[in-house]
Amino acid sequence: MSSRLAIDGGERAVKTPLPPMFPGGMRIGVEEEQAVLNVLRSRRLFRYYGPMSGLSQTDLFEQEFAAHMGAAYALAVSSGTAALMCAMAGLGIGPGDEVIVPAYTWIATASAAVALGAVPVIAEIDESLTIDPADVERKITPYTRAIVAVHMRGSPCQMDLLTNVAKRYGVALIEDTAQATGASFRGKRLGTWGDAGAFSLQFNKIITSGEGGVLITNNHALYKRAIMYHDVVGGQRHHIPPDEVTLGINFRMSELQAAVALAQLGKLEGLLADMRHNHAAIAERIADRVRASGSAFRRLNDPAGDAGLALIMLLPTAERARWAVEALRAEGVSAMALYHPDIEDYHVYCYWAPIMNRKTWSEQGGPWRWASRAITYTRDMCPRSLDLLSRSVHIDVSPDLSESQVEEVSNALKKVLEAL
Ligand SMILES: *Cc1c(COP(=O)(O)O)cnc(C)c1O
Repeated sequence: MSSRLAIDGGERAVKTPLPPMFPGGMRIGVEEEQAVLNVLRSRRLFRYYGPMSGLSQTDLFEQEFAAHMGAAYALAVSSGTAALMCAMAGLGIGPGDEVIVPAYTWIATASAAVALGAVPVIAEIDESLTIDPADVERKITPYTRAIVAVHMRGSPCQMDLLTNVAKRYGVALIEDTAQATGASFRGKRLGTWGDAGAFSLQFNKIITSGEGGVLITNNHALYKRAIMYHDVVGGQRHHIPPDEVTLGINFRMSELQAAVALAQLGKLEGLLADMRHNHAAIAERIADRVRASGSAFRRLNDPAGDAGLALIMLLPTAERARWAVEALRAEGVSAMALYHPDIEDYHVYCYWAPIMNRKTWSEQGGPWRWASRAITYTRDMCPRSLDLLSRSVHIDVSPDLSESQVEEVSNALKKVLEAL
């Protein structure tokens, strides 16, 4: 191993291109092909009817997903954002309500609340880069209806503390599990701790059908309301009495998506095992250097339950983090800083332009007009989150790294940490 950094003209530590970070996507194979062909040949592309009756692919996917996660009900929908909206609609969230979301999450978490007519209230994250339960408690008002716990980059939130806060204040707890399908906290799958869990099957996520989402819950009333919300005739179709029927919009999943999703679900545990294996192997090799450089790994609220898809280090300063990202890239590692003032990234609240500017589809203004109190946003309103994110160096941990690539990535990290 050459210790001269690639950024200074030394040899690159990583010799072959690393696999692209589409965990389930890169494992699409004969199972998905066959599943899609079977659906096409059956000519039943719609879950509720077609030339053949019986259970649809979407029904089967929902049954298996619910069983896999340990939830009573699963509802397959068109996206993770739709799953969040169905969870909120299922809880009766709407105009005048506040929904607490973390400063670090994909903007969709906040968009879902706005789409339902509620306003997002932004809470700080902590060293785990997930929502800080103490700040959640500070941000609760008489108008708070729900907290959204987002398991960022495969890592569980502190679900014990969050369920406790939600219970004490009588507010709902929704889990945005879009980035952590299959991960768990204290042996219980994410998505089953709160009132509802929302998952995404978009192409970037752990398992994928290109686009798609799933809502899980143990609450039958919530499930029924979500069914109605995700399908314009969901109420009728499920024989819900007309006086109980609420408005729906179409977020239904297609049979082609469901067939792919079902095949991908069969690969979930293998993906998690491989990501966890690679994550542990790299972390073990570099742990001493991380400490010696004055850095730390992101705090994992449950190391055994973590999905293992990202290795994140918190460096002493933002400057060092930015330099480390450049140096790692030169070594052939796809590193990134989680917050950089010049890089517009919709994972960080201060770049959520439509939220920061309270701009929606109507010139008349959005839900802030009818909110129960004045809510304003400023780019520096969560300074602790920006500080943590600006010092974070993120590395993808593909399930498909070879043993030699694990070694090479570790060597790149060692070189760069040593030079810090
Ligand atoms: C991807 C993602 C979503 C939205 O899922 P889509 O399927 O893209 O609508 C929501 N929250 C988080 C944290 C995400 O990463």
